[in-house]
Amino acid sequence: MLSLQDSPDVLLDKKTTEGLASLNITTIGELLRHPPRRYVRQGHLDQRERLEAGEWTTVVGTIASSQLISMKRKHGQFLKVVVDDGHQRIEATFFNPRAIRRALQPGARVMMAGKVKYFREQVQLSHPQWAVIPDGDADTGKVIGSAMATEMYTADNELSEQDQEAPAFDRPIIPMYPASSDIQTWTIWNAVRRVLVRLPPQPDALDERSRLSRGLITADEALRKIHLPDTEDDIVAARERLKFDEALAIQTVLARRRIGGHRERAASCPPVADGLEAKLLRRLPFELTAGQQEVVAEIGEDLAGESPMSRLLQGEVGSGKTLVSLLTMLRVVDNGHQCVLMAPTEVLAAQHYRTIRSMLGDLAEAGELTAAEGATKIALLTGSMRTKGKRQTLLDVVTGEAGIIIGTHALLEENVTFFDLGMVVVDEQHRFGVEQRDILRGRGKDGAQPHFLVMTATPIPRTVAMTAFGDLDTSTLRELPRGRQPISTTVVPMGNGKWVDRVWARAAEEIGSGRQVYVVCSRIGDDGPEDELRKADDDPALRTTSVSEMFEELSNGPLGGHSIEMLHGRMPADEKNLVMDRFGAGDVDIVVSTTVIEVGVDVPNATMMVIVDADRFGVSQLHQLRGRVGRGGHAGLCLLMTKANPVSQSMERLTAVAGSGDGFELARIDLQQRREGDVLGSLQSGGKSSLHFLSLLDDADVIADARELAEEIVSADLSLADHRPLAELVDGILAPQKVAYLDKS
Ligand code: ADP
Ligand code: MG
Repeated sequence: MLSLQDSPDVLLDKKTTEGLASLNITTIGELLRHPPRRYVRQGHLDQRERLEAGEWTTVVGTIASSQLISMKRKHGQFLKVVVDDGHQRIEATFFNPRAIRRALQPGARVMMAGKVKYFREQVQLSHPQWAVIPDGDADTGKVIGSAMATEMYTADNELSEQDQEAPAFDRPIIPMYPASSDIQTWTIWNAVRRVLVRLPPQPDALDERSRLSRGLITADEALRKIHLPDTEDDIVAARERLKFDEALAIQTVLARRRIGGHRERAASCPPVADGLEAKLLRRLPFELTAGQQEVVAEIGEDLAGESPMSRLLQGEVGSGKTLVSLLTMLRVVDNGHQCVLMAPTEVLAAQHYRTIRSMLGDLAEAGELTAAEGATKIALLTGSMRTKGKRQTLLDVVTGEAGIIIGTHALLEENVTFFDLGMVVVDEQHRFGVEQRDILRGRGKDGAQPHFLVMTATPIPRTVAMTAFGDLDTSTLRELPRGRQPISTTVVPMGNGKWVDRVWARAAEEIGSGRQVYVVCSRIGDDGPEDELRKADDDPALRTTSVSEMFEELSNGPLGGHSIEMLHGRMPADEKNLVMDRFGAGDVDIVVSTTVIEVGVDVPNATMMVIVDADRFGVSQLHQLRGRVGRGGHAGLCLLMTKANPVSQSMERLTAVAGSGDGFELARIDLQQRREGDVLGSLQSGGKSSLHFLSLLDDADVIADARELAEEIVSADLSLADHRPLAELVDGILAPQKVAYLDKS
């Protein structure tokens, strides 16, 4: 019996199967969940979205005129046919007209498929596939047309006999699928119909009560109606149901992680009297904010428990997340376990290493003469570390000498063995998804799992929090430490020389009063071949300024008298660190850099940030970047320099950033502009989005509803043994390899 898990080739020919594969459709289920992009209504055609140039389209209509036209320049003729589909007129041209001219006469009903071109606002198809659709009472034995189209038509007729449905061309609503030159929308539809004829009624992931209380149709109905709707309502109902199923699949995966996680074992870490945490607290030159105290308590409660914490700490840029994580890591160290603090870049890892070491002072000098009693050791581990230093560090990690290990992705490498990993903190890593977390989950001692804390300053809209991070509990740090200064942001058009001069004069003033300045550019530009190409091609008005060009320009220009350094990802790690060290110490006035300083970098004396070609950055990125200034007692200034057109989307974004300091609002704008798949990140990695109906932006209610239901089901039946249809739905919607890891945990 045909099932949704089957490969399409059990039923369909090789060519169709390959065509489907080119659309990432590899199972019958994926084929049925591949939704039509739009529907064509026969008879009463309502307005249809504008066809895109280059798109493959299929047109069904009546020939309004058919005309042989002589070519002006060349010898010969072509046939111009105008097809009226009841909504618009489409021109089709054929360059070998003799043979087909007789068939394509005015009044004939035809189907044509080809690539859309526009000529003077007129949709054109040049030498499309075509077939003449026989009249109902005419001899249907033979269809006239090009090979591909007649084949489609014949297949359609055969099918309509099998499923006793009206032939495709006579249905009131015809689905049009996203197609490619490898596979046409008709082929997809025929494949779908072939499948639906054979497919036995499908079991439902929802029980009757849950389904009816939500006013949803059955899964079986939905899978059929989305392709063969009789009415507009059918389409709406099918979409609703399939959307809910997608939300339910995701939430089931997440609920299994959440609830399954609660059943794992972790090292319990209650507060330790007079431990390192208490000692650090006593030494702090400031009070914790109320928010920090609250969050430390929340995390502390999780840490004291017997099951692993999985928590997301959201907090505005500068709200003091590092200290929160340090205090809680010390609690774990006080209980005799190790902690990992993972940063997205080497620059940030190195900075965490420096600030944490200097905060802890002799509390972090284990093994040295100056060490305080009970001191621990902090280790830094990054990809670019030299072998010798690395070997010592790895040794400190494996022996348990190092209590806190700070690093980048290098920490995920296999050869890092921990003595007793009790907690993992992931800083500012929005793409650090479910799977990467899993790698470190397995590294605890004696089957215990480490506690997990993910920190981010990029506020996550509710829908995303419920999906990409839906397996985590959430804490939020709203408050900024007292004395934090506001950052004023202004957009500066780069075309205006006077304004640009004013920017650099302002930078000079800032430096004159003892402050420091960041200048951020969108590319490095030691002119690799790509840069050369870009230079040659680009409109000079759009050309971006590279770090090295900006460095030259400033050094030889208005700021030449000051100490300027470059900072970018292609520099060796120790050079980068040296620059950041000297900038931190106040020995460098201006750093011209790429976004390596985007997150987390903390130099309180830096008060001004100039972002060159600001339109090249995303909204959240700009918000992060400007969070680097205004961290000390002085007001921050951020200037967004741009060549963007005053009336453009780019300018709108920049104005939004300049106008709002509210990270949540900006994150929403950002999400609107990015592809949603990006946000889901690892949940659907491999670039293949398996969500067709659910929108992370608009469907917050559906997601929340599905989350509740999934929670209810999974807490009663973690393995889904009594919910096979749901388990199959999860498998079908989230690619199988994504679900495989669930079984590992
Ligand atoms: P973020 O949350 O963006 O990671 P950081 O942890 O880098 O912020 O903290 C920003 C700055 O605020 C650091 O210099 C840190 O030492 C300081 N800080 C943290 N907590 C407090 C506090 N309670 N009072 C004053 N300053 C604080
Ligand atoms: Mg930070």
